[in-house]
Amino acid sequence: MFAQLLNILFPPICPLCGFHIVEAGGGEEAGLCEACLASIKRIEGPVCTVCGTPFASGAGPDHPCGVCMGSRKPFVKARSAVFYEEGAREAILSFKYGGTLTLTRPLGRIAEQALSGLVETFDVVIPVPLHNDRLRERGFNQSLLLAREVARGPGLEVDYKSLKRTRATKPQADLKTEERRKNVRGAFEVKRPERVRKKRVLLVDDVYTTGATVSECARVLKRERCKVFVLTLARAVSL
Ligand SMILES: [Zn+2]
Ligand SMILES: [Zn+2]
Repeated sequence: MFAQLLNILFPPICPLCGFHIVEAGGGEEAGLCEACLASIKRIEGPVCTVCGTPFASGAGPDHPCGVCMGSRKPFVKARSAVFYEEGAREAILSFKYGGTLTLTRPLGRIAEQALSGLVETFDVVIPVPLHNDRLRERGFNQSLLLAREVARGPGLEVDYKSLKRTRATKPQADLKTEERRKNVRGAFEVKRPERVRKKRVLLVDDVYTTGATVSECARVLKRERCKVFVLTLARAVSL
């Protein structure tokens, strides 16, 4: 009742376009208006069974991609909910750099949908950490906010203290594939090995591009004999 009254007095606004959600065509439980939701492209076609990269063909069953057939990933599986383009890209940039924290819930809901591609149980959810300097600058770690949303439904523990970024790295966006790998090499450390040892870890990040960052996190977690699964909200692909 009270919630309904609040909705009448203060109709919810879409955090992405600023229009009233209901007037813009429903989608209220999603926290975004219909038009903005429609501009976020879900990954639905076949993907690599290991790294989760969508295939351009858009038909047929999931199968390993060329890269995963040729080399082993330090994580068991990675999945992403949406393509990093159009509405999703706009939303993530606004969330991460514009500090639009009202996007936390809707983006978390969307990220959660990639869980179905992982079909696993987890002991703990670990967000990809930010370096302390960047955290101070930005004021929040977007991956931790997403991790909390994803963990809420299944009631999983979120651990943001065991994995730390010990070295500040250049923004990955400016770098090529090989440079990305070098850039994050040795940048992470497990601070509380006893807390994560032999656990099934769900590693959460906002965007997966070459997978360099999550791979490096998974590599150090694997030393503690963790089984790492990766969930990112979005996937940047050049199809
Ligand atoms: Zn909108
Ligand atoms: Zn692959």
